[in-house]
This record gives sequence, C-alpha cells and structure tokens, in this order.
Amino acid sequence: MRTMPDLTHPVAPGGTVGILGGGQLGRMLAMAAARMGLKVVVFAPDRDSPAFQVAGAHIVAAYDDQMALQRFATQVDVITYEFENIPGDTGAFLASLKPVRPNPTALAVIQNRIAEKAFVQKLGIGTAPFASVTSEETARAAFATISAPAVLKTSRLGYDGKGQRMVRAVEDVIAGFETFGRVECILEGFVDFKREMSVVAARGGDGAVACYDIVENLHGDHILRMTLAPAKGPQRLKAEANKIASRLLDAFDYVGVMAVELFEAPDGRLLVNEIAPRVHNSGHWTIDGCTVSQFEQHIRAVCGWPLGDATRHSDAVMTNLLGDEVNAWRTHAALPATAVHLYGKTDARQGRKMGHVTRLYPLGTRPDTFER
Ligand code: AMP
Repeated sequence: MRTMPDLTHPVAPGGTVGILGGGQLGRMLAMAAARMGLKVVVFAPDRDSPAFQVAGAHIVAAYDDQMALQRFATQVDVITYEFENIPGDTGAFLASLKPVRPNPTALAVIQNRIAEKAFVQKLGIGTAPFASVTSEETARAAFATISAPAVLKTSRLGYDGKGQRMVRAVEDVIAGFETFGRVECILEGFVDFKREMSVVAARGGDGAVACYDIVENLHGDHILRMTLAPAKGPQRLKAEANKIASRLLDAFDYVGVMAVELFEAPDGRLLVNEIAPRVHNSGHWTIDGCTVSQFEQHIRAVCGWPLGDATRHSDAVMTNLLGDEVNAWRTHAALPATAVHLYGKTDARQGRKMGHVTRLYPLGTRPDTFER
C-alpha cells in the first residue's frame, strides 16, 4: 500500500484534513492546519474532545464504527492521526478510502514494542536488550537472558508508565505477567541512562527529512514534566540523533512527523526507547522556538507541501501543566518571554495534561537549573 502524496497535487489551501483523535495533539494540529488555510474534521469517540473546540467539523463515534469512518473519509482529502493506538482494522479500512499518512504499516510495527524494537535493531540502531514473555516458561527464559534489573512492559497499549514495572527476580516477571492479564509482554534490560532525550523529525512526500534539535526530557511519575531545548552536549549527539531519525523515517517510507525517545547510555551511546508515530509532547517547544512548528510540519508533510524550516531560533524550556497546576496560568502569563498554551479541558484530574508553558531564551543561553 503506497500512500505517498502526489506532490504535483498537494492538499492545497481550501482542502480538508481528517484527524483521528481529539486530544491536545489533535487540537494543536487543527490549529496549525487552520493557519495554513486548510479545513479540519476531527474524529474522536469522546464528546468533550479538546480538538473539537477548534475544528470546523467533528464526528463523535467509536474507532471501529465503519459507517462513521466512511462518512469521515468522504469529508476529507487526507487522513492523519494524533495517537498510535488506532485499531489496525480502522487504519486499513480508511486507507482503502483515502490516503492515510503516516502509513498504517508503520503504525502496526510501532504499536507492538517487540516488533518495534526488532525493527530498530535490524537497522543497526541500539536499544535495550529485550525478550518476549508470553507464558511462565518464556518468562523464565527471558529473565535468564536479560537478567536483573529489568523492566516488564505490556507489548501493546502502554503509555506514561502504565502497564510496566521494574523486576528483580524471575518471580516478579511471572507475577507481573499475571497482573497484566497474561497478555504478551516485553522484558527489557534496565538502562542506567544518563539522560532521557528525544528527537522530533519529519519526512515529506519527496523523501526530504527535517530534524528538530535533540532535546532533553525530565520526567516525574513517568509523565513528561519538562523539555529542555536543545539538549546540551557534544555536536556528535545531535548528529547521531538525526541519523537515527532519518534511518527510521526512510525505513518506514514515512510521511509526517515522528518522535524518537532516546536514552543516553552510560557509555554515551544513544539507544532508542520508543517511537511515537505522531507529533509529540517533547516537540511542543517548536511552536514558539522554531519558524515552523512540529504541528505545521506534520500537516505540511501529510498534505504534500514542502517541509518547513526546522531551525531553532531560540532556546526553549517547555513545562507541562498537569492537573491543578493549570490554575497558575495567570502567574505564567505574567512572565517574560513565556507562551502559555491551554488545552480547553475542564476536568483538572491529577496528572492530566491541561496545558504547557514555553519560556524562550536567546540562542545558547538556556539555563541549566530550573524551578519546577
Ligand atoms: P516507556 O513507556 O517505554 O516510554 O517508559 C516510560 C519511562 O520508563 C521511560 O521514560 C523511562 O524513564 C523508564 N524506562 C522505560 N524503559 C526503561 C528501560 N529499559 N530502562 C530504564 N528505564 C526505562
């Protein structure tokens, strides 16, 4: 299935982009599309989806509702998505009706942590050592190869640390496998990383690749708290991150924005932790720190437009506003060189991403220490 855009017939201003998923990523994609003179239809199951507030049209339906998907496809010129857990059948069905970008084949690989890591390793890119767990027997075999400490994760549908736990003994692996409902799991060697980083990059329909600067990510309770742009370190880091991203984008024959989450290993090598086949929280700083944001870049790519300039014009620190931290919007709004982005969510549940703020600094001057 080829879904490369016909570059002589891009989705031009006045055309319509369909977005599967209605969270903040869909919302920011829709806002970028609007700025480019494109119309948007958002498809999401939740009536209160934040993206609905900024899209010209929306459809509320389940992702497996074929009638609704068909209606959606007739209203749009190209289909993209803001999250990776779209059911495989949905992607295939939509791709039979309209171009789906990035292509559903990439999505299928990335949806399974085992297939994803195998794909990455086959390209000669480093990951943590891993083994599959599908039974008590394979749990024992996996633990024997990986050894402690290790991280047990469900191979599908995990995010923000859900569906994963540290394990130190084979009994922990078996107990974890039981707790996760005996679904297929991956056992990964624990990486005693120096830093967590990511690279957000895009590939256009002509195969051109544009990478944003590699950034450092600070987490709390498995949730991204801050992104520091750029990551400090030798030039080699940036070159290596760009090489990893380009190789993955080419190998998937990918069109759109991809984020690659990386560990900086104790020996300085970059290991791929996970791939997000979409715009990513660690790329939010690009809205304010670059000429063309990750959201505009994604819309450009999937619509067959030339990719934009991903150069960073300012250093940036992005801080997520989680739960009731959003109540401090006024304080953030009064800070110099600070952009406040709120997602229009009403229920400020603990840990929920309600918005983010980005503080800009002149190039090369971002501080090293931050008040959380
Ligand atoms: P993930 O859902 O795979 O992105 O994992 C969430 C977080 O758990 C990561 O951002 C890391 O902080 C931590 N983590 C996951 N896998 C490993 C690993 N193999 N070694 C060390 N830390 C890990």
